[in-house]
Amino acid sequence: MTTVQTAPKRLEISQLGNPILRQIAQPIDNVHDRNIQALIDDLLTTLIELNGVGIAAPQVAVPYRLLIVASRPNARYPHAPVMEPTVMVNPHLVSHSGEVVKDWEGCLSVPGIRGLVPRYRWIEVEYISREGGLIRQELTDFVARIFQHELDHLNGMVFLDRLESVRDIVTDQEYLCRLVPTRTVA
Ligand SMILES: [Zn+2]
Repeated sequence: MTTVQTAPKRLEISQLGNPILRQIAQPIDNVHDRNIQALIDDLLTTLIELNGVGIAAPQVAVPYRLLIVASRPNARYPHAPVMEPTVMVNPHLVSHSGEVVKDWEGCLSVPGIRGLVPRYRWIEVEYISREGGLIRQELTDFVARIFQHELDHLNGMVFLDRLESVRDIVTDQEYLCRLVPTRTVA
């Protein structure tokens, strides 16, 4: 039988309440596997079409340790810094700053609201690239925040679990009209 190569497609996002968002995701043995490479392409397409700045495989109901960090300004995050989408397989946190900062986050799996979430300002991370290389990298500020948010998805957590108070939740509408940060994120 011939396998037909299909074009990357937008995947359906698992929403809060779907048990897959509460599972611990499994490590990927072989990043070169054709199904894993196709999944990466589909995740990139999904992320771009939905104006996300990051996505994790459990968000499309695939329980693997795979995430993408892809900060860029868009309708959901008008002040996000620009970077090339970075695919991270089996990522983990190596070290982090003592300093923790609070800032607003949203999530494709938790539509309609934003929360003020404390995160390490600086982190050092290690992961396998989609080409199979072992990469160690330092991330700061908004990009470090995205990584920590997506890593939580691999461990069955969502940003709501990190809030200090339910008073730190606002609607998307209020966030976009009054709380979009005026500072620039470098
Ligand atoms: Zn999320």
